[in-house]
Amino acid sequence: MAQTPLPRPNAETRPFWEGAARGVLRIQRCTACGAAQFPPRALCGRCHAPAPPRWEEASGRGVIASHTTVHRPPSAAFREEVPYTLALVTLQEGPRLLVRLRGDLARAPRIGAPVVIRFDPPAGPDAIALPHAEAAP
Ligand SMILES: [Zn+2]
Repeated sequence: MAQTPLPRPNAETRPFWEGAARGVLRIQRCTACGAAQFPPRALCGRCHAPAPPRWEEASGRGVIASHTTVHRPPSAAFREEVPYTLALVTLQEGPRLLVRLRGDLARAPRIGAPVVIRFDPPAGPDAIALPHAEAAP
């Protein structure tokens, strides 16, 4: 069975993955204009302030903005995982996150459905905990 590839943290993404390994969703916020952003970047995507955005803990709550079900594996590593459903989740803080949808919502995804972001147990040499979304309790 092929091992699904895991992300490799870099200087910009490491704080996100460190939070994920503890089950905490972290996003960035600009210290100049206050914009929240995800995915992580070295600069604010709105105002390009020279100071790097700071990290903060997000609520982990959001709603499904869009979804799609993957039937054709993107590579051989995903052959045994299809079909699976991906959701574009709009977090309460504003940024969007593309994640796997799990549970009942994955079988019947619905735009606008409230979800929570959870994390799989850490795996691999970098202790990567992949995020997923499931129906909010
Ligand atoms: Zn900014």
